[in-house]
Amino acid sequence: DDGGCSCGLTSSLQAAREAEAVAATGSSGQGHVFLDGVAGEDGRPACKCNTCFGGANCSLLTPNCTADASSRRVPSSCNCWCSGNPMFLEPYWVRHGAASAVVVSGWHRMSYRTTDGMFQSIELEKQIRELHRAVGNAVVDDKHLVFGAGSTQLINVLVYALSPDADYDASPPARVVATVPYYRPYKSQTAMFDGPQYKWDGATAVWVNATRNSTKSFIEFVTSPNNPDALLHQPVLGGSAVIVDRAYYWPHFTHIPAPADEDVMLFTMSKPSGHAGSRLGWALIRNEKVAKKAYQYVQNSIMGASRDTQLRMLGIVKAILTGQPPRAEWFVATGWNGLGRSQPVKSPVSASFGNGIWSGFEPILRLTRAHGEEDIFAFGHDVMRSRWRRLNAVVSRSRRISLQKIPPQFCTYFKRIRVPSPAYAWVKCEREENQDCHEALLKANIITRSGVENEAGSRYTRVSLLKSDDDFDVLLERITDLVNEENHEAPGSNPL
Ligand code: PMP
Repeated sequence: DDGGCSCGLTSSLQAAREAEAVAATGSSGQGHVFLDGVAGEDGRPACKCNTCFGGANCSLLTPNCTADASSRRVPSSCNCWCSGNPMFLEPYWVRHGAASAVVVSGWHRMSYRTTDGMFQSIELEKQIRELHRAVGNAVVDDKHLVFGAGSTQLINVLVYALSPDADYDASPPARVVATVPYYRPYKSQTAMFDGPQYKWDGATAVWVNATRNSTKSFIEFVTSPNNPDALLHQPVLGGSAVIVDRAYYWPHFTHIPAPADEDVMLFTMSKPSGHAGSRLGWALIRNEKVAKKAYQYVQNSIMGASRDTQLRMLGIVKAILTGQPPRAEWFVATGWNGLGRSQPVKSPVSASFGNGIWSGFEPILRLTRAHGEEDIFAFGHDVMRSRWRRLNAVVSRSRRISLQKIPPQFCTYFKRIRVPSPAYAWVKCEREENQDCHEALLKANIITRSGVENEAGSRYTRVSLLKSDDDFDVLLERITDLVNEENHEAPGSNPL
């Protein structure tokens, strides 16, 4: 009831009421009611409980629940790569519901075409460019931008766009390669469409020496930061066409040393905002011909990314931008007044330190941006670094399992050295007898993704740190049990 006030809203009022009613439906905090959730006996959508919780209002914790740090729980018919589900951002959007909600009227963009007869929203493109500028993670001014249904679709789009033209070009098929441990869909997506233009040709290690003498064209996938080991990777085959997958090149997951400026880059909305279900990815492409080919592929394949998704993502990107500290609002921590208080200045470049109140001081001790509660990247980095710190604290007591090493690094976004906050832990089983690390952890009730999937061998396995707080808490519990057991074991026995 809005107390009789419809506040001038007509067409959207009922939808807004329904959405608010569903949002207000109580569950214990360990579940959600969704507008399109399966209806219960009362005809209303029922509560969908988080993993390891059950009961009518999701308050019952399943004892000794298995930690799913992969996606193996989904039905086996789904060869799903969705364990990179960034549910850690859900609390941010719950808190920013008003800033991010979007109304989609029945008549919204019914046509195949949007502005100027295109399939892409010009305004969304503008806002995405603005987001890259605000974060400083990509040079966008000299690039074309092509949307796809998630960056998963764009994997094949870009391979196609960089391959020789079968109709006009007698070249042999491009060889598509990646460096181990690589993100498996590069292989599955390419192999699915292998043909006269391109074919999957395995790991770069095989080709490193061959390329020096070879005239055959390569398309090299580079993932930076990498999935699964979270490190910033570089191309290894000189002279080949390179697709740099920058899915995780956002301050939640990595320091940003400089804006990325490769010829072909791949981004997705799934990781910076967490809206993986909306399926929006984009490629930044320097060369116009390559960009046209990519755009035509998307046009022929799906006639452009869903207009509803584009509208929703426009709202999300705007909300993220609103949360960014204004670029003019930087702080110089001077300490000069003895209070240690930061002094706002106009901008890092325009601030004048040679006169007025600054004269006679050596003021720039620390230049930093004011990343407040509204900044999704400050929020995301806080969550992810805390998870990494807690996981490391437990694993450091183990001699059986170890994690990849990531040093703290200077980040141009936060303007300071930041501690690591990777999306994935790349776990190695150290003991001779634990050849299959995935199986070893499964015995301890932890589902991970075997390094075999990334051609890295079974001694490695990947643990997703992106999921919900509940998922992470259960994961940490199971790992703590495992390490405690190891520390209490009788000499010679093996808990794994
Ligand atoms: N690239 C990498 C490296 C990824 O980890 C993912 C998601 N797991 C994707 C691309 C695909 O993202 P999406 O299809 O959701 O845009």
